[in-house]
Amino acid sequence: MLHTSLDQLIRTGMQAAWVREYQYGIAECRIKCPYFAFCGGGHPSNRYFEHGRMDGTETDYCRNGKIALMEGVIHLLRGTRPLTDRIRDHEIRLRKLLQSYRRKLLQSYRRCPINK
Ligand code: SF4
Repeated sequence: MLHTSLDQLIRTGMQAAWVREYQYGIAECRIKCPYFAFCGGGHPSNRYFEHGRMDGTETDYCRNGKIALMEGVIHLLRGTRPLTDRIRDHEIRLRKLLQSYRRKLLQSYRRCPINK
């Protein structure tokens, strides 16, 4: 690292298998997703942890954080119902997820020796 130029490091990094896999995933998003212009292809960590790979496309994260958001905005702008069934489903799933995280956080907090 101390003897390699930044340009060379970047060039080498771009040839890494996971980077090529991620670039393929972004290309797939560009082709398949109507929200690509807003999202730009999402976040690598979500792809990896939800699909176990970098070349997947839609994730829970992007459904809840990007697609549902854009659909809500579009519905509001069109003056139609702001909450579609799909958004409502995401909202319910998100609430359940948050409850589950809250429970896990509380359990961790109670198990921590500092809090005893
Ligand atoms: S919203 Fe999801 S599927 Fe669409 S471009 Fe972003 S990451 Fe890809």
